[in-house]
Amino acid sequence: ALAGAARTFDGDGRTADGHRVELLANVGDPAEAQAAADSGAQGVGLFRTEFAFLDRTQAPDVDEQTTAYGRVLSAFTGRKVVVRTLDAGADKPLPFLHAAPEANPALGVRGLRVAQERPDVLEDQLTAIARAAAAHPGTTTWVMAPMVATVDETEQFVAACARHGLTTAGIMVEVPSAALLAGPMLAHARFASIGTNDLTQYTMAADRLLGAVAALSDAWQPAVLRLVEATALGGAAQARPVGVCGEAAADPALAVVLVGLGVTSLSMTPRALPDVAAVLGATDLATCRLLARRAADASSAADARAVVRAGLPVLDELG
Ligand code: PEP
Ligand code: MG
Repeated sequence: ALAGAARTFDGDGRTADGHRVELLANVGDPAEAQAAADSGAQGVGLFRTEFAFLDRTQAPDVDEQTTAYGRVLSAFTGRKVVVRTLDAGADKPLPFLHAAPEANPALGVRGLRVAQERPDVLEDQLTAIARAAAAHPGTTTWVMAPMVATVDETEQFVAACARHGLTTAGIMVEVPSAALLAGPMLAHARFASIGTNDLTQYTMAADRLLGAVAALSDAWQPAVLRLVEATALGGAAQARPVGVCGEAAADPALAVVLVGLGVTSLSMTPRALPDVAAVLGATDLATCRLLARRAADASSAADARAVVRAGLPVLDELG
């Protein structure tokens, strides 16, 4: 059924037995938003806002940010957009925010941590997101913070969003501490989105940009899968949705595993949507769970991949 004609995506994400999985797009700037909307994505699961800050000597002002964010929201009228606040630092350095050089930038002042030194940057950004959301009431606007590591940070971020009238505030789970404390964090935050690129980097202590450690920096590593499972369990305990927005969501076999581990939405580059939708649509939830168990119980990333591939003959039809 999968072979032959080019697959398209009709916007419906579900397993063979009808279990719904939201299939969303990752978007890096307003220009990408329309293409993502045309792809049929049910919304944007990760809108990276760094584009507005790159190559700047100062942060863009509130008006400029409001206009830029509004362009993304307007492409998704009737759908959801999850706006991620600025994730500067580490692999995304911004000169005007990082005066002092750091010996280990991946472990330094990045993501939400910047708000401690520069609360004005987060305040301006939340002001702009709130104004853009108010100007586009037909779009469901959610906000989330990157690199959250503690329950206190979660509480503070959620409170800051609430002061701007942004009531659906969530956290990215990219640090092992957040995966382990997902339950307590989700007592405050309304949703979580697992960033598997960074969660893998920090779980395996393997730089995501360094080819020499690429075998370690692999989301199929069973330790990473177990942290995804812990996050999903924390979400279920609080009745909060837990998505994945890292590259892992775009791998159809891994998407099956993530759903089996309890993840409720998958956000990815739009071109990956048809294959992920096709493989999920050919696999029932019980099989997703069985394969997820086998992958999380495997003793290596290679074994996890092999055991899942063996259980998904549908993959051979993707070509
Ligand atoms: C991630 O870390 O998986 C993620 C989605 O965020 P980014 O790739 O922008 O760090
Ligand atoms: Mg990240």
